[in-house]
Amino acid sequence: MKAYQETLSFLGTLNLKGIATSLDEIVHDAEIRRLSYITFLNTLFTTEISYRIKRRVERNMTGAHFPIIKRISDFEFGRIKGIGKSEAVNLLDCAWIDNKENLLFFGPPGIGKTHLAIAFGVAAVEKGYSVSFERIANLIKLLKTAEIQKKSEYRIRKIMKSSLVVIDEIGYTAIEKREANLFFNLISEMYEKLSIIITSNKSFENWAEMMGDSVMTTALLDRLLHHARIFNLDGESYRIKNQKKEG
Ligand code: ADP
Ligand code: MG
Repeated sequence: MKAYQETLSFLGTLNLKGIATSLDEIVHDAEIRRLSYITFLNTLFTTEISYRIKRRVERNMTGAHFPIIKRISDFEFGRIKGIGKSEAVNLLDCAWIDNKENLLFFGPPGIGKTHLAIAFGVAAVEKGYSVSFERIANLIKLLKTAEIQKKSEYRIRKIMKSSLVVIDEIGYTAIEKREANLFFNLISEMYEKLSIIITSNKSFENWAEMMGDSVMTTALLDRLLHHARIFNLDGESYRIKNQKKEG
């Protein structure tokens, strides 16, 4: 018993929580199966490693700030034009994130742009990538307050360290020139360093008007589009369709 208590105490000191939580089970299993010393050791290590990976994914899922969890498996393909199921499933391997490519979703409201953006973000977290989700309105607020608010500065730094940043709802709110500049600088810093997912209800042609500066908008789009896959979605709004079903 003393040895057992000692083991638990060592595990605590070394911060081996994964082994500590499953110790009884692992030891019991090793005794029954008469594992060799080396196999037993490897079981301990793999237990700790899986535990740490699981914890990191959980931390990244919370840290991403997804407004809700959505998945590709819940998405009904065929209802909308512009993205096919096999195409979407292929993207779940996240190779595009390794290649620092961007995904851009355009289309009218209620068509699943945010759903898809979140679903690819969630898939990335589950694969071990760090992801940050922000609506553009909040992202701009963070940029404007980063110099005076520690919390905003911290979030921006976290966003910049992510492998994937999802920027939702570009186009719903007008952006002032100063705000557009801050946004442009952010995208320039991200360019070729990390992947970006963007959703917008406005097509490129209307971005200049929204940003109030055509030269800057061209430079911004240049960076976003350089390594990008563009999805122009179209079809009936899911929100309206569901209302009709319920009504
Ligand atoms: P958008 O961002 O284009 O305005 P959302 O992604 O917010 O649209 O979709 C609105 C709602 O409808 C969400 O709850 C979303 O999960 C759902 N939805 C939209 N398109 C689909 C689809 N093809 N299959 C399943 N659910 C969908
Ligand atoms: Mg949306």
